[in-house]
Amino acid sequence: MTAESIQCPYCGQSFELMVDTSAGDQQFTTDCEVCCRPFEVLVQCEDGEVLSVDVRS
Ligand SMILES: [Zn+2]
Repeated sequence: MTAESIQCPYCGQSFELMVDTSAGDQQFTTDCEVCCRPFEVLVQCEDGEVLSVDVRS
């Protein structure tokens, strides 16, 4: 697991998200800790490292 910084596409708040880097590419929905709106997170992982993190509203 590694902590990645992501930014809410609605309110712009940055917060940390724990990512399981052994699970490969992932796509899931999470709720913003500040405005509580759900958004999609796309994570690309390879060899235990996070390559990229994208958020989609
Ligand atoms: Zn937010």
